[in-house]
Amino acid sequence: QGITLERLREHVWEIPQEEPMGVPARVLASEELLEQIGDDKTLQQLKNATQLPGMQKYALCMPDGHQGYGFPVGGVGAIDAETGCISPGAVGFDINCGVRMIRTNLTYDDLKGTERELVNSLFENIPSGLGGGGIVQTDVDTVDEVLERGLDWAVEEGYATREDMLHCEDEGRRPDAVADYVSEKAKNRGRNQLGSLGSGNHFLEVQRVTDIYQADVADAFGLQPDQIVVLIHCGSRGLGHQVCSDYVRRIEQKHGDFLKSLPDKDLAAAPAKSQLAAEYYGAMGAAINFAWVNRQLITHQTRRVFERVFDRDWQDMEMELLYDVAHNIAKKEPHDVDGDTRELYVHRKGATRAFPAGREEVPRAYRDVGQPVIIPGSMGAGSYVLRGGAESMNETFGSTAHGAGRTMSRTQAKKDYRGETVQNDLEERNQIYVKAQSGATIAEEAPGVYKDVDEVVRVSEELGIGDAVARTFPVCNIKG
Ligand code: 5GP
Ligand code: MN
Ligand code: MN
Repeated sequence: QGITLERLREHVWEIPQEEPMGVPARVLASEELLEQIGDDKTLQQLKNATQLPGMQKYALCMPDGHQGYGFPVGGVGAIDAETGCISPGAVGFDINCGVRMIRTNLTYDDLKGTERELVNSLFENIPSGLGGGGIVQTDVDTVDEVLERGLDWAVEEGYATREDMLHCEDEGRRPDAVADYVSEKAKNRGRNQLGSLGSGNHFLEVQRVTDIYQADVADAFGLQPDQIVVLIHCGSRGLGHQVCSDYVRRIEQKHGDFLKSLPDKDLAAAPAKSQLAAEYYGAMGAAINFAWVNRQLITHQTRRVFERVFDRDWQDMEMELLYDVAHNIAKKEPHDVDGDTRELYVHRKGATRAFPAGREEVPRAYRDVGQPVIIPGSMGAGSYVLRGGAESMNETFGSTAHGAGRTMSRTQAKKDYRGETVQNDLEERNQIYVKAQSGATIAEEAPGVYKDVDEVVRVSEELGIGDAVARTFPVCNIKG
């Protein structure tokens, strides 16, 4: 489609700046991954993103990148918070979609034989699917509390411990959250979805640690070979989706002329310092808190399920939170640009913060080694735990990939795969027990629709933005 990439060095490709781009664009990928990006809209979307006013240095696409709505998934855009803009389109509909990993002191041997019981019990006790109820049904006042206080609320209600809070990005509470900027409609959607996975791509997976790459860092993260861990992937459900739609619509109404100057209306952005920018930022922060509480309630329920299946207390099984990372988010962060420190709205849409050792945002327990970065692969492949790399602040505004990334659309996947066949193959060949709301979900999420997560992680590591610490392999998986 006529977009030329210049190879700057190994794994770094640039779309040089030309009219009407505001800055250059960079794709971080090996040749193999670049080929998989192919000729969909990814590169055009990345090029368009450079026109968001105030974009610093370059618009970035991570190694797992693919096309999204307006802004690519795997996209990172750091935009001046004084003179630029903030873009709901560059955060995504599922605000604070993210992943958390829970450790246990169980080994794979302890678990063998219980897989079916475990997967059934998780499926029965953790709500999933479109719509549906949550672990907690509540009123709008309680939703307000959750929106303003995040994990603080969960601690007070007995769903979280202080330690859980300390092991979550931003300690599970956005300081700038404003519940008043979230519409009643959004709050109502949240009332009965607190503690629910949602549909399709979201999942809860019991995994075993298969490889350790850096013994000292793994030690700091509390990871060992053969250990059982739990990975939870979900976001802010209908509430976050509603916040995004509300603000996209309001921005279109109020800043129509500004939007006309952008190449794609799905990039919808509010000018920095405008009232709508402030309101979106407050509402997004509130939706971020909602997602953290959502993942926390699922954690609480997972602990209960393990207690019943293994007949031990969760404390005795040491089911501690390793870390929780957001991968659809925009935050004001101070970054070094050409020797000056500036406040930037760092948009990470399908990208994970990957701060290196020494940064004060990294929890104390991990500050000497760098923050944990959790990168799921697929229900048939491995997943990874990385640590933020030494080069991430220079190269990617402290970011790396968020997954393997799709290569095949959901529509195509349903033509190419049959859910039941995929499910049976996983069980017979790999002893992976999957349970989902529907066969279609399994087909849409078949391992073959995702890129090679090993390759994504290799590129991240070679660029120095995130280094592999451990690899895991699925044991049981429940899907929305
Ligand atoms: P997204 O947030 O873009 O929907 O997904 C994040 C990543 O999760 C995907 O890019 C994919 O690599 C990974 N993923 C999707 N389904 C599964 C699953 O069932 N298990 C694991 N471990 N990873 C998955
Ligand atoms: Mn999501
Ligand atoms: Mn996600």
